[in-house]
Order: sequence, then C-alpha cells, then structure tokens
Amino acid sequence: MGDYFRDIYLAVRTILTGMRITLRYCFARTITVQYPDVAPTLQPRFRGIHWFEIEKCIACDLCAKACPVDCIYIEKTAPRKIDKETGVAMGGALVRYAIDYSKCMFCALCVEPCPTDCIHMGNVHDLSGYDRRSMIVEFTELARQGLQTPQPIWMLKGRLPPWAREMKQDWVERGRPRREQMALALTEQKPAPKRPATAEPSGETGRPAAGGPEAAGAGA
Ligand code: SF4
Ligand code: SF4
Repeated sequence: MGDYFRDIYLAVRTILTGMRITLRYCFARTITVQYPDVAPTLQPRFRGIHWFEIEKCIACDLCAKACPVDCIYIEKTAPRKIDKETGVAMGGALVRYAIDYSKCMFCALCVEPCPTDCIHMGNVHDLSGYDRRSMIVEFTELARQGLQTPQPIWMLKGRLPPWAREMKQDWVERGRPRREQMALALTEQKPAPKRPATAEPSGETGRPAAGGPEAAGAGA
C-alpha cells in the first residue's frame, strides 16, 4: 500500500518539476541572435556534421552497424588495415563512405566503436540543400578534394562576417597536411613489406639489436 502512494507522489512531483521548467521558459524574455552576422553559440560538446579522417579508416563497418538509422554507407574493394609504420590504412580501396544527413540524428553512436578513431562529430552546424539527394554527403568525393567535412552553403557567400571567415579557414586547412594519404585511401595499396624482427643480430648472442622487435611493433 505504501508503495502505491509513493508512486503516485513521485509521478505528481516529476510532472510538477517538468511543468515548472516549461512555464519558466514560457515567460522568459525572447532573445534573437542575428545569425549569420553574429556567430551562433555552440556548446563544447556540440555534435555537428562529422569530419572524417579517411586515411585512417579500415572500412570495418563498425560505425555503420552501430548507427540506429542505417544512414552510413561503406564500400571497399578488399580488406584494409592500419600500416604500423605510417599509421595510415592500406589494402583495398575505399570506394564509398557516405552519410545520409536526412536520416542522421547526430547521436554520435558511430563515433564510439571506431577502432582507429577516424570519425568525429564536427562543429559545422548546418547543411542546407535543395533536395534530399544533397543531404547525402559522399566523404570519399570530399577526400578527392582534400576535404574532411562538407561545405555549408553559407560558406559560398562572397562577404562573410569575421567569425565565418575563421571557420571557413579552419574548414579549408583541416585536411591539407594529409592530402596525399587521403588520396591513397581511394586506391588499392599494398602494405609495406614487414621488416624482419631479427635483421641485425647484435654481438655474439645473435639476439636482435636494442629496440628491434619493440620498434617493429610500435606505431600501431
Ligand atoms: S550520428 Fe548517429 S544517426 Fe548519425 S551517422 Fe552516427 S550513429 Fe548514425
Ligand atoms: S569510420 Fe571507423 S568504424 Fe567506421 S568503417 Fe571506418 S574504421 Fe570502421
């Protein structure tokens, strides 16, 4: 009997708590942000359009399997794996990596399982388009242009406010240092041949030189 009344009390209390918050916002002063002249305030953990390090992607499909709405599309020609020497994925070509943003919920569930930490939630907050097809971002096509994240339409404007110029610069520069590796991800690559762990025996013991096997195993 006690549980019965306690449940009623908890239900009423939680409804009143929710209503109190709702009512507070009903009577709060309305603030209009003059976007795009004024930068929108993005919280530190904001989850925007992804940015993708294609050169580290091994096309393992874990992100696609974790996606609750099946909006990640991946195609490869053969298995890919990280080359320990360079930290770049080698093997088959990544033919397609695309995300359909007309379905994406920005839940970040695709980011967590990625074994190579190559897919991230970004800070681009809008992706306007004129049809549904334009909501599908082909990250492999972007990689051909040396880009890791799509370009929002507002970036095409000739005169941008200072905050937007800064964001555009960041957008352009982000993939620049890794353009070559990004291009390699789109083609078939043979991993570099493994160096024999005991290539240089040291001294009379015939053991590998210091740092031999350890060095060969490092850099994953
Ligand atoms: S953020 Fe969520 S919905 Fe969007 S692609 Fe990732 S897992 Fe799918
Ligand atoms: S982004 Fe990460 S989880 Fe998704 S296929 Fe590439 S390596 Fe696998």
